[in-house]
Formats: sequence, C-alpha cells, structure tokens
Amino acid sequence: MTTITIGPLAYDLEIVEDLKTDEGVGLFGQILYTEQVIKLEKEMTPERAFTALWHEVLHGAADLYRLPFEDSEQTIGTLAMIITQLLKDNPELRYNAEKA
Ligand SMILES: [Zn+2]
Repeated sequence: MTTITIGPLAYDLEIVEDLKTDEGVGLFGQILYTEQVIKLEKEMTPERAFTALWHEVLHGAADLYRLPFEDSEQTIGTLAMIITQLLKDNPELRYNAEKA
C-alpha cells in the first residue's frame, strides 16, 4: 500500500475502478479526510493520474492547514496544474538531499 504523507497525516493511496461520488458522478480522484484515504480512478493516463493525485493532496493540505481555499475546486485545480507542470518542466525543483 502506497502512503502519501500530508503534514502529520498518512493517507493510504487506493487505485479504484470506476470511481464515483455517492451520487454516481465519475471522478478522477477523491480524498476522504476522516478515513485518511486518497482514491484515484484506475483508467487514466499517468499524466492525468499525477495531476489528480496533486489535486487531492492539495485538498488535504488545505484542509489540514485550514487554508481559505480549502473547498475551492477552481483554486485547487489551478494550483494542481501549476505544480504538476512546474515539476514536469523543471527537475531542479524536486528536492534532492544529495545536492542540497
Ligand atoms: Zn477537488
């Protein structure tokens, strides 16, 4: 089981087929705060999955640190796109303890 750590909280990462809300709406990703689980849809490209994971992690961080945009899909979605593109384009933005 892969774990994603957000601050002091360890979230289990689950890959799920046909991920949906309780209302039946299809999802790329979902974060369950009280269960500490992040779910990702199985049928996605690696790029889509990477962005979806960052999207859910940002929800988790916003919830944990009570950031004012905690529930804003617009802000979370934009930040996820910005961060994933920066990381793809710039290997030097990834922390490397050996280079520090
Ligand atoms: Zn969201």
